[in-house]
Amino acid sequence: VRDAVPEASGQGYVEVLDRVYESGEPHVAHGSRILLARRAGFPLEPRFLDFIYQPIRDTDGAITGIIVLGTDVTDRNRAERSLIQAEKLAAVGRLAASIAHEINNPLEAITNLLYLVQLTEEKTQRLSFLKMAQQELDRVAKITTQTLRFHRQSTNDRPVCLQDILENVIALLGGRLRNADITVERDFATRGEIIGRDGDLRQVFLNLFSNAIDACRTPGRIVVRLRNAVDLSTGERGVRISLGDTGIGMSQPVRQRLFEPFFTTKELTGTGLGLWISKEILDHHKGKIRIRSSNAEHNHGTVFSIFLPDRKP
Ligand code: ADP
Ligand code: MG
Repeated sequence: VRDAVPEASGQGYVEVLDRVYESGEPHVAHGSRILLARRAGFPLEPRFLDFIYQPIRDTDGAITGIIVLGTDVTDRNRAERSLIQAEKLAAVGRLAASIAHEINNPLEAITNLLYLVQLTEEKTQRLSFLKMAQQELDRVAKITTQTLRFHRQSTNDRPVCLQDILENVIALLGGRLRNADITVERDFATRGEIIGRDGDLRQVFLNLFSNAIDACRTPGRIVVRLRNAVDLSTGERGVRISLGDTGIGMSQPVRQRLFEPFFTTKELTGTGLGLWISKEILDHHKGKIRIRSSNAEHNHGTVFSIFLPDRKP
């Protein structure tokens, strides 16, 4: 490798080979970034590789060599990144619409209250209208500051509070929930403090809630639950969030394809990228997602259950 791809030295690849040789453990990497000299005299080019280092042993078990298999997945990576970008843009558009909606209600109230102030002579009455207007303004301020806070903190891993994120998502979707006559039941046994990216996690829950709203026929019900939990398969501690809806549920074929990019049953309104992206984000958090769903005629609905482990910062 040192002879054939000299530019790989100094990028960690030769070191990994040495480690495989010493430990005898195979090494598998997905979408690993490497700078390669593709044409003589040109600068190094960033490429992405899937690769496997598999030690080969002789009959005594001694390592005699390593099979190195590398696949250039740069084009696939680029395509995936532009998909993520597309869904992020769509999510931003939906978010902007929700925020505009949430801000519009208090603004209408303020307009009416100020009109009443102009008509009223009586001082205590005027003061009470002004006080109500002030409360509506506080609502607007709360929505905008929360949104800005999430926006700024979106890209780094840091302590986050899942309860706050869920409350923010519910507040942002308030208009849609009211219009569709869907009640939200909260069952929070913990604040859900973990290390993560709050902007990304908010996108996951925004999408799960939107999907639940889309699935519900009015009137409907969504139950959101937050618990400290242990992942039974690994013994890891963490938080479990579950989101249940009384929506139409899913058929077996839909359940199987849920996480595929572009898979949607909402012909005009869906991008089919929401859950695919959510899965990526949860993978980054080393999280797990499980789904139970029934589309039986009298007992239908869906529960998404997510486990997020406590991780060190
Ligand atoms: P989109 O919402 O744009 O369709 P998603 O990736 O968010 O894309 O969801 C993919 C599909 O999964 C949806 O079109 C829908 O068929 C199904 N789905 C997701 N969540 C639910 C739910 N809570 N109830 C019923 N179907 C759901
Ligand atoms: Mg969706």
